[in-house]
Amino acid sequence: MQKSIERIADDSEGHSYEFPVFRFEGTDKAAPSAYLQAALHAGELPGVVAIDALMPMLEKAEAEGRIKGSITVVPQANPIGRAQYHFGEHQGRFHLGTRTNFNRGFPLLAAPDVELLPDTTLGTADQRLKTRLLQLSIGHDIVLDLHCDDEGLAYLYVHARLWPAMADCAAAMGVDAVILWDEDTDGTFEGASITPYLNLPAEVARFDRRVATTVEYRGILDVDGALAGADAEGLYRLLVARGVVQDQALSTPGSFTGLVAPLENIDMMPAPRAGAVLYKVKPGDRVAEGALLATIVHAPGEAGGRTQLFAPQAGIILTRRSRRIIRAGEDLLKLVGDRKSADARSGTLED
Ligand SMILES: [Zn+2]
Repeated sequence: MQKSIERIADDSEGHSYEFPVFRFEGTDKAAPSAYLQAALHAGELPGVVAIDALMPMLEKAEAEGRIKGSITVVPQANPIGRAQYHFGEHQGRFHLGTRTNFNRGFPLLAAPDVELLPDTTLGTADQRLKTRLLQLSIGHDIVLDLHCDDEGLAYLYVHARLWPAMADCAAAMGVDAVILWDEDTDGTFEGASITPYLNLPAEVARFDRRVATTVEYRGILDVDGALAGADAEGLYRLLVARGVVQDQALSTPGSFTGLVAPLENIDMMPAPRAGAVLYKVKPGDRVAEGALLATIVHAPGEAGGRTQLFAPQAGIILTRRSRRIIRAGEDLLKLVGDRKSADARSGTLED
């Protein structure tokens, strides 16, 4: 395993950012290769500790000559976001300098060719970081971008072209749900990882062996040793199932039995009022149409000071907020409905 340090110049003199990259060289050129990164949203750490638990498994496999395909690992992909604090609160989701989401604005290339990447020398530091991360990942057959939600189940975003071919990956990882999407106009990292292949001939795109996904490892507070160990085993099982790592002791994953739904089935449930949120449901709950989801206390102690919110359709609660303070219009939770949402939002991932 080789460790190297990436450096990203900041926008002013005398300052730069750095992050480590770990590379395992595969012994079989025909085997699929894999790229894993975590904490692109810099405060989302479940994937970071999962990678920490995965590394000894990969090093053991390497020592035993079982790494078949090359593996690139970036445990902390966003040193810019990592350093951003505002009045004592960490801000890892948006670049403070440009107000751009760190998981938006990746270049959507016409083909998987690093020569097509834009020159960001005179761009901003976050653009240079995005270009470099894409450059590091392009060419790998398997690209895993590890995130987490606010409070939520473990779930994957997957492009519809990769489903159901990726069902073995979802089963190997043991996630609860898979959300399918089909168009990225915002430039998420996942979108930038799969879009270059969409217009290639099938024999070049190789969707049967391609993996690109945003992994949502539950909630922001689910940074836990036992979960990290289980998630590392899930990642390892995926790498074995896809032939990146060889391990005779592991059986092939069974069929995926979790929830699979198109993105258009998600109801985001904006809060009708500002106030304190009393949730009636939690991630994983199955709700009927008309079920009480939450009560917002907007005028405490007054008659009519509470507003209730009901499920617009039957479905499963995928996520909810970790904080209980809300403004009108902010999203209360994600409900994966049994059918298309009446107010399905355009766009792609809401990670
Ligand atoms: Zn994220």
